[in-house]
Amino acid sequence: SATIIDGKAFAARLRARIATGVAEFHAEAGRAPGLAVVLVGEDPASAVYVRSKGKATRDAGMQSIEHRLPADVPAETLLALVADLNADPGVDGILVQLPLPKHIDAQTVISAIDPDKDVDGFHPINAGRLATGLPGFVPCTPLGCLMLLKSIHPKLSGLEAVVIGRSNIVGKPMAQLLLAESCTVTIVHSRTHDAKAHVRAADIVVAAVGIPQMVTGDWIKPGATVIDVGINRTEAGLVGDVDFASASQVAGAITPVPGGVGPMTIAVLLRNTLVSAARREAVAIDIDAVDSAGDAAGD
Ligand code: NAD
Repeated sequence: SATIIDGKAFAARLRARIATGVAEFHAEAGRAPGLAVVLVGEDPASAVYVRSKGKATRDAGMQSIEHRLPADVPAETLLALVADLNADPGVDGILVQLPLPKHIDAQTVISAIDPDKDVDGFHPINAGRLATGLPGFVPCTPLGCLMLLKSIHPKLSGLEAVVIGRSNIVGKPMAQLLLAESCTVTIVHSRTHDAKAHVRAADIVVAAVGIPQMVTGDWIKPGATVIDVGINRTEAGLVGDVDFASASQVAGAITPVPGGVGPMTIAVLLRNTLVSAARREAVAIDIDAVDSAGDAAGD
């Protein structure tokens, strides 16, 4: 049966390397990298994410700047805060936790963030940079998925990759990253006629749907690598978009849920913040050494 891709261990190594890079940055720039996180409202899941992002930021030796605004805050107030953070030289990364309350247009807020502080990689400028091969910020979850994939396939070139889901946060940037690695990329989505037929042909499957255990073992090409982005809370507990029990019988390698993609997301957020700080202060950081944390031999 399949190799289990240990995202938790990978993320721990990544965070250790980031902490080293942060210390180097601090010594040279005379300050810690700063990540500002803005939480609007009381959504309990968002509050948990923001708390764990803050803790991970501090653990890596960075400064966490947290802003909490009430659910009924006017959009103008939020936009004014974003403008202040854009102008603040101690802030290297700005993240506005989604979802936002209904009266605030998320796209307007994302577009107000300085693209060079947009460590979530959601700004249209960064989406365009990714699509055209320019340096920018790549969304954390798909970049984490790519790192896990590269730990199994150092060369992805020529492989058939199927991404299930086309969100701006996961599916689309994942497809762009795989295309940049010279995979042959297919995106399967809610209107696809025969999703299973596409997935059956794939060497690489990335599932980012939000439907518990949709992808079963009979969808998987024997030996394929399966990355499960899904986080679904069910009565049986936390499950992915992939049915791990059956898929792991067929796949060559597979991520578990929890302990697969999930831990990578925050680690990559810290990585992007370090990259931002290094660019802004013109400090040389060996980011390839950080990113190769999948290669445990160096530790
Ligand atoms: P989304 O709801 O924005 O997008 C889901 C996508 O799935 C859509 O593009 C839709 O076209 C597609 N889809 C829906 N039904 C389908 C079907 N029957 N067949 C094929 N495609 C179908 O979700 P998202 O933000 O991209 O997140 C996807 C999943 O990943 C969720 O479970 C979410 O909780 C999880 N997620 C995890 C992390 C992490 O850190 N691990 C980060 C982001 C999202």
